[in-house]
Amino acid sequence: MSEKSKVIEGRTGPWEIVLGLEVHAQVASNAKLFSGAAVGFGAGPNEQVSLVDAAMPGMLPVINRHCVEQAVKTGLGLKAQINLKSHFDRKNYFYPDLPQGYQISQYKHPIVGEGEVIVEHDDGSTFTVRIERLHLEQDAGKSLHDQDPNATYVDLNRAGTALMEIVSMPDMRTSEEAAAYVKKLRTILVYLGTCDGDMEKGNLRADVNVSVCRPGDYEKFRETGSFSHLGTRCEIKNVNSYRYIQAAIEYEARRQVEILEDGGKIDQETRLFDPTKGETRSMRSKEEAHDYRYFPDPDLLPLDLDPAWVKRIEATLPELPDAKKARLQSQYGLTAYDAQVLITEQARADFYEAAVASGKEGGRDAKLTANWVTNDLAARLTAGGIEIENSPITPAAIAELVQLIEEGVISSKIAKDVFERMWASEGSALEIVDKQGLKQVSDTGELEAIIDKLIAENPGQAAQVAEKPQAIGWFVGQIMKATGGKANPGVINQMLKAKLGG
Ligand code: ADP
Ligand code: MG
Repeated sequence: MSEKSKVIEGRTGPWEIVLGLEVHAQVASNAKLFSGAAVGFGAGPNEQVSLVDAAMPGMLPVINRHCVEQAVKTGLGLKAQINLKSHFDRKNYFYPDLPQGYQISQYKHPIVGEGEVIVEHDDGSTFTVRIERLHLEQDAGKSLHDQDPNATYVDLNRAGTALMEIVSMPDMRTSEEAAAYVKKLRTILVYLGTCDGDMEKGNLRADVNVSVCRPGDYEKFRETGSFSHLGTRCEIKNVNSYRYIQAAIEYEARRQVEILEDGGKIDQETRLFDPTKGETRSMRSKEEAHDYRYFPDPDLLPLDLDPAWVKRIEATLPELPDAKKARLQSQYGLTAYDAQVLITEQARADFYEAAVASGKEGGRDAKLTANWVTNDLAARLTAGGIEIENSPITPAAIAELVQLIEEGVISSKIAKDVFERMWASEGSALEIVDKQGLKQVSDTGELEAIIDKLIAENPGQAAQVAEKPQAIGWFVGQIMKATGGKANPGVINQMLKAKLGG
C-alpha cells in the first residue's frame, strides 16, 4: 500500500478527506432472515427461493433466531451496545429484484448501538473507528441483463438473505484507513464466525461516504459532534474490494476538491464506482432520493431479547484479534508487526501456536518460528492459493525444521533448501538433511584442515586480516565454497579469529 495523505493541496489551499463507511456483511447462516430457504453460493438461478422470498400473497415472514444471535454476537465483538428491544421496519421502494416492494430493515431502533473498532495502520500504529449502529436487513435479488438482448432476467436466490449493515462514524481520513478498517472488520467477523468475509462473492461490501473539508473543520466536528462542520458527502455504493475502495476514494475526493476550487458546491448524491475507468459517476441525486416511507412492519413482533440469552452468547465468543495479538506479544515476545501478521487469519495464528509448542524442551524459538510461518510458508501458500488449514507442511514439520536450525545442525541458508524440498514432499526436514547430506560441518578437525590449507596457499590474504578484520570475510567465503555452504559460520569465525587474529 502506498502512503496516501489525508491532505489534498488545491489552488486555494489544502483540503482534507473525511470518510464514513456502511458495510454490508452477509450473515453466516444456512437459511434466510425470514424464511427457511437455503442460503449458499453456486445454486442454479431461483433454486433457493421460498414463497416468502417470492412475496406470494398471504406469505408471512418468521424471524430466523440464528441470524439474530449472529447479529448480537457481532455487536458484542464490536464492543457495542446490545439493544434488548429493537424492531423491524419496512423500507418501501420498488425494485424488480425485490418482489415484496419493500425491504425489511431496522431504522430507528437497530439491534446494536454504538461500539468501536481498533484498526492498525501498515506501520503498526493504531486508530479507532467509532461504530454508530448495526442493524439486520434483507438483501435483494439480482437482475441479469446479460442473458438475453431483449429481456432482463431475475434471480431471487439472494432475496431475503440476512445482512448486517454496520455503520461507522466518519472517522477515517485516508483511503488506506478506509481499506484497513474494512480489513479489520472482516477479520473480526471471520473470527466470530458471523460472516464468511468473502468479498469476491459479495458477502462483504461497503458503501463509502466521502466528503472534503478545510483543515481544522474535522477537529471542530469531533469537539462538538456537529456534522455541520463537515462538507457535503457523496456515497459510493457497493464497493467490494480493498483496491476499489481506495481507488474510488482517491478519485472522488479529487473530484470534489476540483468542484469546490472552481467555486461550485457538492450535491449530496449516490454514486457508482467504475473499476475499469477508475471513476465514480452519479447514480441518483438527493432530489431523486426515494421517500422510503419507513414504518414498523406489522407482520413482525418487536425483538425482545432476554439478557440471560445475550450473556450466554457472550460466553461463546472466541478470543478476538486484539486480545490474541496482545497475548502473542506477551506470551512469545513477538513484535507488534509479527503478531499482527499472525492474527490476521485465525488459522495462521493457530498454526503458529501449534508449531511453537511442538518438539522437545518446551517448544521452539518463537521469533524464528514466526519468521518461517509468516515468510516462507505464507509465500508458498499464497502462490499456490492454498489455505493454511490445508498446508502440506504441518506445524510439527515446521517445528522440526526450526529445531534443526536452533541446534546448529543446518544453517538458515540450507534451511531454505530443506524447506523447498519439504514443500515438494521429499520427506521431513530431518530425513531430507540426512538423505542430502546437508548437515552443517561443525567438526573442527575437518574445518581446521581446510583453513590451514587456505592460509598456507594465501599468505597475502592472511596477513591482511591483522590490519583489516573484515578481510576475514574472504576466508569465510572460501570455506563455505569448499564445504558446499555447510560449514557452521559460528565455528569457522571462531577458528579463523584464533588463527589469524583480527
Ligand atoms: P444513509 O442511509 O443516508 O446513507 P446512514 O446514517 O446510514 O445514512 O449512513 C451515513 C454514513 O455516512 C455513515 O457511515 C457516516 O459516518 C457517513 N457520513 C456522514 N456524514 C459524512 C460526511 N460529511 N463525510 C463523510 N462521511 C459522512
Ligand atoms: Mg447509506
